[in-house]
Amino acid sequence: MQIYNTLKKRKEEFRPQNPPFVTMYVCGPTVYDFFHIGNARTFIMSDIIRRYLEYKGYKVKYVMNITDIDDKIIKKSNEEKIPFEQVSKKFTDAFFEDVEQLKILKADANPRATEHIQDIIEMISELEKKGYAYNVNGDVFFDVLKFSSYGKLSGKKIEELEAGARIDVNENKKNPLDFALWKKAKEGEPCWESPWGKGRPGWHIECSVMSTKHLGKTIDIHAGGNDLIFPHHENEIAQSEAAFGQQFVKYWIHFGFLNIQNEKMSKSLGNFLTAREILKKFSAQAIRFFFSQTYYGGPLNFSEELLASSEKGLEKLQNLIQTTKERLNNPSGGESNFGFEKYYKEFENAMDDDFNTPQAISVIFEFVRQVNIEFALNPFPNKEFCENVLSFLRKTAQNVFGIVDVDSLVDSGSVTIEDELIKILIKIRAELKEQKNYKLADLIREELNKLGIQLKDNKTGYTTYIKQK
Ligand code: AMP
Ligand code: ZN
Repeated sequence: MQIYNTLKKRKEEFRPQNPPFVTMYVCGPTVYDFFHIGNARTFIMSDIIRRYLEYKGYKVKYVMNITDIDDKIIKKSNEEKIPFEQVSKKFTDAFFEDVEQLKILKADANPRATEHIQDIIEMISELEKKGYAYNVNGDVFFDVLKFSSYGKLSGKKIEELEAGARIDVNENKKNPLDFALWKKAKEGEPCWESPWGKGRPGWHIECSVMSTKHLGKTIDIHAGGNDLIFPHHENEIAQSEAAFGQQFVKYWIHFGFLNIQNEKMSKSLGNFLTAREILKKFSAQAIRFFFSQTYYGGPLNFSEELLASSEKGLEKLQNLIQTTKERLNNPSGGESNFGFEKYYKEFENAMDDDFNTPQAISVIFEFVRQVNIEFALNPFPNKEFCENVLSFLRKTAQNVFGIVDVDSLVDSGSVTIEDELIKILIKIRAELKEQKNYKLADLIREELNKLGIQLKDNKTGYTTYIKQK
């Protein structure tokens, strides 16, 4: 399996340190607001990568942190005149609710920065002891020039970074690229006791500490959005490798931005839509399907039209599952030499190539097309065939992508109680036709028609329906 590693700037064979175990850390939300659909792209694509590693038989330990102390949280707590813990609790709870709605698998741990203050102080002390950190009146900075390979992730030399980055001017720093490990408390701000006086941790050190605590000093995969390559991830490498003297991360994975009208969706630009707003209009499966159709590393433009067509596209998959289930309940002996292996192979080839999800999705839809042809040619295939169809979709579309729920289709966002009632009427109508009561059977068809629901009897004797909105 090949993964594009930002550190090497090329695809590399994936070799975890201790197979079948894989350790994976993803930078999670800063909890001062509901997360937006751009954040959701990062969370969902990380989830799909994790699910595919599990498909391959790896045992993944998956950690996503929660940044629950930060300037923006403090700002919001001041604006709303409530304690910062109340702000972070509200949006941490909301984060878990939304993540569950999006069918993102639970992480093995969601450590919070405020639970690790003591560990953070210990790591900063270690850096200070080793000469990588310096204290200026209670602010502690990382001395970037001491870490000789600084810039290796973003691929830039120190001079370029100094010239290019928007770095806050602070006369206490030796070098403008030096970054805060510990921030001295300001009047009225939340703070903790430390060897340098009262203060709070910097953002970057939180991730170095939480990933080490939960996954060890060298982790297999570390992921996050493109915006985090510099300075956040560059700084994490500097801190961790300086403190522990060993490689911090084997494979760095970065997600492209979700754009809206060709501009990065972000809270600061104000051009964002929260995941919860979008979930009111579209199913989680359609959102996941929309993201899966684009390579994770590239940019992706958001629009509600695209989400609507994803929702529509999923109907093909749902219809096939329903047809297959019907067939499974009325099995007969029709032989089939459908080549399932070919589709598994093509699916794996796509995903093994740096998680080429658009290609893998097209394999699934080609499979759907071919199975439909098979049903047309062979209306009553045997049970084994139907089970194999469901099994393929369960392993790929359901377990890896989370775009369909094979076993409880009624729970999926787009199949409503109305659909269930229509299906009951279709069954009654089939029964009436059996009894040659065509008058009543036609009445059902006509009445449904008046409601904009068109029944279609296909050649295989199975009735489908179309709803005109
Ligand atoms: P934040 O809450 O802003 O710290 O972001 C949480 C995660 O979402 C980080 O991994 C970011 O890199 C990622 N992220 C933020 N904005 C976008 C976007 N527009 N598209 C994709 N990922 C994003
Ligand atoms: Zn982080």
